[in-house]
Amino acid sequence: MNATLPAPHAPTGPDRPPWWVYLLLPLLHFASVKLTLFCAVTPETEVVVWLPNAVLLAALLRYRGQRGWAMAALTYSSDVLASLSAFSVWGAVLISLVNLAEVLLTYWLMRRMQVSRGLLRFRDFGKFVVAGPIVGALLASLLASAVLLQLDVSTTTPYFTLVRLWWFGDALGLLIYTPLLLSFSRPLNFGPYHPTRYTLVDGIVVLLGLALAGLVFSTHRGEIGGVSVTPDLLLPPVLYLAVRFGVRWTSLAVALISLATAWVLTTGHQPFGAVDVHLEIVRAQEFIFTLCTVGIGCAILLTELKAQERGLEDKVRERTQALEASNTQLAALSATDGLTGIANRRRFDEVLASEWSRAARNQQLLAVVMLDVDFFKPYNDHYGHLAGDDCLRHIASVLAAQFRRTGDLVARYGGEEFVLLCSVKDAADALQIAETARLALQALALPHAASKFGVVTASLGVALCVPGVGEAMDTLVQQADQALYQAKAAGRNQTHMAG
Ligand code: GH3
Ligand code: MG
Ligand code: MG
Repeated sequence: MNATLPAPHAPTGPDRPPWWVYLLLPLLHFASVKLTLFCAVTPETEVVVWLPNAVLLAALLRYRGQRGWAMAALTYSSDVLASLSAFSVWGAVLISLVNLAEVLLTYWLMRRMQVSRGLLRFRDFGKFVVAGPIVGALLASLLASAVLLQLDVSTTTPYFTLVRLWWFGDALGLLIYTPLLLSFSRPLNFGPYHPTRYTLVDGIVVLLGLALAGLVFSTHRGEIGGVSVTPDLLLPPVLYLAVRFGVRWTSLAVALISLATAWVLTTGHQPFGAVDVHLEIVRAQEFIFTLCTVGIGCAILLTELKAQERGLEDKVRERTQALEASNTQLAALSATDGLTGIANRRRFDEVLASEWSRAARNQQLLAVVMLDVDFFKPYNDHYGHLAGDDCLRHIASVLAAQFRRTGDLVARYGGEEFVLLCSVKDAADALQIAETARLALQALALPHAASKFGVVTASLGVALCVPGVGEAMDTLVQQADQALYQAKAAGRNQTHMAG
């Protein structure tokens, strides 16, 4: 699974927070406090979700703890300031310390568990839920409740009720807000996560989802005309978002629905029916927990699977290209003569067949010229076999340089024999082509002490015909071979025409 995804710590931007982060952090923290107070504190002063802790956690994850102490100091100061409205200075200092401890503990646990900074994998999201909402928030709530009881000795709320309120509020705040901040802090098409092409159906579903949300949050006591319309109905549209729109927009939708749910509790709409306010809050928290884990979890899982699928497709494409390239190379190798680098006998047979039918179709003259090096056995005997090889290479390159017209082919027929295949106008044309080759080789003047000519020469036999019904390709080659035999018999270093 890992192979196709970015490395756990693949960059999501620069490691060091840029200057504006120091400005944005306290502002975002302060705004989150205000947002919490506005939409998540019931008239009974129960906090349904506590968002601000996620700001520092997201920043620490985003910048891998770089300049972590500066970011912590800034959000801590903002926290103390924001808490002064509810606590004494000493109380604000202590309560903010507990918040800070919660975030640092969560971050430390996530580092220990090697969670990627962008929460890009389903496994990482699971680890985040354990480290933050479950462990970090629980420990902080145990501590904070003790502090609260010390600060306000007159309170009648039992310790474990305080723990539950604090724990659930902090846990949901982290759950809603951390993935949202993280997904908006990285580029839209980060890594292998390309944006999707949206369709008309997407638009229709989004509009219907918005209408449904409007309906859900405007009901009184979770029903319209006796029909139950609770926030649970919003889970299917969120799943649709998760499938089609990815983590970023799912996180945003989940956060908005969660905050709207918390907000309607504060306005007395009772979206979960006519129940006692404490039960209502528990229901809302349960709903938000389900919405976040299922919605964001699905979005992460699906994005991960899509990236994996894309990775596999890329790999298959890569392999196919490599295979095609090696096939082409193999085909070239099997058509090439190893010693001289020109076409081999096999290739000649192929080209002869195709040129034969082409010439038959166009009623053109096709010529075959056989060339055999003169006195090559004595050459080998005199200069050695390696020098003989060199000589063959020279001859091949001279012939190849002579015949560059498309449709022409020069091939090594075997041993010290070469063959030329070309379409010609008439017999004189064919004869001239062969003579040009012979004279070019002679002009090369490769010394041959064991030849009566003093240099390397060759004898050539030419045969031509217009391929037609009843004609055989082999006959053309045989005729050229017989003409070559005549050239040899007539004294070598000359060209003979068949027939
Ligand atoms: P002729 O003038 O009648 O053609 O005489 P020849 O000596 O050229 O003909 P023959 O058929 O007697 O000898 C051909 C020689 O070509 C024998 C063989 O050792 C040599 N030969 C064939 N292939 C190769 C090769 O790949 N490398 C080398 N160095 N020699 C080769
Ligand atoms: Mg020979
Ligand atoms: Mg020979």
